[in-house]
Amino acid sequence: MLKSRYPAEEEYPDLSSHNNHKAKVLTPELYEKLRDKATPSGFTLDDIIQTGVDNPGHPFIMTVGRVAGDEESYEVFKELFGPIIEDQHGGYKPSAVPHKTDLNPDHLRGGEDLDPNYVLSSRVRTVRSIRGFCLPPHCSRGECRAIEKLSAEALASLEGDLNGKYYALENITEQEQQQLLDEHFLFDKPVSPLLLASGMAGDWPDGRGIWHDDNKTFLVWITEEDHLRVISMQKGGNTKEVFTRFCTGLPQIETIFKTKNREFMWNSHLGYILTCPSKLGTGLRAGVHIKLPHLGKHVKFGEVLKKLRLQKRGPGGVDMAAVGGVFDISNVDQLAFSEVELVQMVVDGVKLLIEMEKRLALMPAQK
Ligand code: ADP
Ligand code: MG
Repeated sequence: MLKSRYPAEEEYPDLSSHNNHKAKVLTPELYEKLRDKATPSGFTLDDIIQTGVDNPGHPFIMTVGRVAGDEESYEVFKELFGPIIEDQHGGYKPSAVPHKTDLNPDHLRGGEDLDPNYVLSSRVRTVRSIRGFCLPPHCSRGECRAIEKLSAEALASLEGDLNGKYYALENITEQEQQQLLDEHFLFDKPVSPLLLASGMAGDWPDGRGIWHDDNKTFLVWITEEDHLRVISMQKGGNTKEVFTRFCTGLPQIETIFKTKNREFMWNSHLGYILTCPSKLGTGLRAGVHIKLPHLGKHVKFGEVLKKLRLQKRGPGGVDMAAVGGVFDISNVDQLAFSEVELVQMVVDGVKLLIEMEKRLALMPAQK
């Protein structure tokens, strides 16, 4: 290998401005130990860490700075991923009990009545990877196109309420794409430095697209950061309905893939295997766009969210700031909790945030 011509210390990245735990995991010793390893498809330590080296931080979220290139990455490089997963997922140990799944919406308490005066829209999304293909940072052009073809064909078999259509990015106009973005249905254009540095944006828009049902309430992104992102969303505060649709559609997709002799990457310790270690487990992010003009400005807002195990983003997506007191509030955890438990945290937390917002609105303005 080219890099082996130089000693490990000369290849070791400059992490002096990376002041977080994830950077500290990669010691010069670990770098030296792992740098000659590769997964069967040829993904290396340097491929895993490049996005973290190039992006010391992010303005709104705590980034992991590592990506997997295939299912085997997590096994071959477990000495690197193990401590990161533990740190990112609340102390989840390499020996932790099997990850749990619960996709029964009847187990969710409440959630149909989040006050629409505050909650503008509700969304639940998850991520799935198709076993046998590399993950987007390492997909070849041919693989990317094969994933698109397979997925578009599979999704065409959804019927009834979930009847929909696939739109390849290459086949829709710039205006149509912009409209889907403005309505929050489509993934970002590949401008995010995280996406670019991890190698996920190669050949864009080749092989990328969006499938959605006729109402645009059930959507699947194809080959953005992950093979598949499955999304249920609608306007207003009925998270229960959104989650119910999610729990109905997702197993149907899995069944259709099975009829095509394809399964999703999964193991009992890590749950669903995905590109970014922060999403392992359920891959689930349940969230609302919510108006919090008073609470959103409060000095303790961040602390409150942390206690509720929630995170904030801007309503334009992960790279955007809040606009006019509107935030995207969603669960922080993805692993070691079931889907129902995570949605429950969001439902209960959002109710409390609304109560706090109402009370703060009654307080006289602070000098
Ligand atoms: P993800 O984690 O699913 O990739 P991003 O933060 O990248 O989410 O946002 C992707 C898109 O989804 C953006 O257009 C964003 O506005 C939209 N979105 C996220 N949550 C909601 C929500 N609760 N309601 C409406 N749109 C949402
Ligand atoms: Mg995103």
